[in-house]
Amino acid sequence: MSDRLVIVGGVAAGAKAAATARRRNPAANILVLQQETDVSYSSCGLPYHLAAPEEIPRSRLVARTSETFRADGIDMRTRHRVEEIDAKQAIVTIRDLNSARRYTESYDKLLIATGAEASRLKTAASLTAPPIVQLRTLADADHLVTCLTGVRKLVILGGGYIGLEMAEAACKLGLDVALVEMAPRVIPSFDEAVARMVEAMLRKHGVELFTGARVVELDRGHVVLDNGVRIQTDMVLAATGVRPCTALATAAGVDLGSTGAIAVSPQMTTNVEHVYAAGDCVESRHVLTDRPVWMPLGDVANRQGRVAGINMAGGHASFPGVLGTAIFKVFELAVARTGLGLAEASAASFFPVRETIRMPSRARYIRESKTLQLHLTVDQHSGRVLGCEAVGEDAVDKTIDIMAAAIWGKLTAADLFDLDLAYAPPFSPVLAPVQAAGEVLN
Ligand code: FAD
Repeated sequence: MSDRLVIVGGVAAGAKAAATARRRNPAANILVLQQETDVSYSSCGLPYHLAAPEEIPRSRLVARTSETFRADGIDMRTRHRVEEIDAKQAIVTIRDLNSARRYTESYDKLLIATGAEASRLKTAASLTAPPIVQLRTLADADHLVTCLTGVRKLVILGGGYIGLEMAEAACKLGLDVALVEMAPRVIPSFDEAVARMVEAMLRKHGVELFTGARVVELDRGHVVLDNGVRIQTDMVLAATGVRPCTALATAAGVDLGSTGAIAVSPQMTTNVEHVYAAGDCVESRHVLTDRPVWMPLGDVANRQGRVAGINMAGGHASFPGVLGTAIFKVFELAVARTGLGLAEASAASFFPVRETIRMPSRARYIRESKTLQLHLTVDQHSGRVLGCEAVGEDAVDKTIDIMAAAIWGKLTAADLFDLDLAYAPPFSPVLAPVQAAGEVLN
């Protein structure tokens, strides 16, 4: 008889694992338990859907519906929450959220793909406080839409990428937007120069910025900051971070790593026999430092889900780790990073040097050409490229992807110059920004 594979969570990692296991083993008995109504959707697309629901309707965010999974012979149960894992007996206890019925199912192999959840705002709120919303799930987006009626002013708490994407979305909806960040600048993990460019872009589009300020109270239609400023608002969007959903796993004896997410092997196994984990609930190995990092990103979740699916279906696959490559857009500006920054590289015992390079994104005489700014980190001893941040209005995505491939391939700054890249004036200057950066740091 074929193995019974049970998967908890059905958005990115869980859905990918189920589809992969089905392809690899057509006979596998696969059950997916998902507490939300929706499965296999793009959380990453939520800000774009909210900004332009006619152009990107809700349905277009869903990659595969429950019915598609069922047509593939996957037993997809939505609104079913796993409340307990008994690893000794290999059973899960499930709550059917429609009927409140509790029942159990057995497994041969179990995948925990419970993802992450938005951090809750702990600020004191009076009865007259403005409504607080968050954006993690498709249901959150639906709720946000219903709350938007009559809203003219929105305060966003958090200057990370979700807060910034939502600032743009809210401006596109015609709202007055203020953004509060408790760190001295937005996107504090990026280079200060990059953060300042983002702040300038936000201001250019009319977003009121409050950095270095903490919210202490929500009261009478106002957000109250610790510096005494009161910002009138109709609604508050809390985008103050996420944390891994690990309670179900830890109660079953699954170990967490030093980041607070589930510790897994490259094969996505946990310390508990027959129990795998993947996606935002697990930590990854950083390829450059060999240290655990938590990278709650959609592409990582998908790739980990694929590895788990292959292995659960009896195949052999490994997840090689991450470089921390990420990109987001705020109005005209694209912001991206890969690898290590200066401080991270020093902490990992490299001997890093960092240079800022400004280059046209295409031949200067091409109308679409914009300035592309790169912050490249290289190890002085080996010459190896360790990291890059890129910011600009053009060619950021391709530049960061080349840099990520270069770091992955252990290339040096000299190698960057030697890369045989495509050139024609509408696409690039004769020396691409990547090559120019390699020349500067060689
Ligand atoms: P999740 O998407 O969190 O899914 C886990 C699912 O498991 C959830 O539906 C949860 O309800 C369910 N679950 C949890 N516990 C149980 C239980 N006990 N029983 C049953 N079901 C359970 N990443 C990028 O790489 N690029 C981007 O541009 C990007 N933009 C984003 C924008 C927004 C607004 C958000 C919210 C996220 C964005 N991300 C982006 C992150 C990306 O969406 C996540 O990394 C990805 O969704 C993680 O997938 P996952 O399957 O691990 O977890």
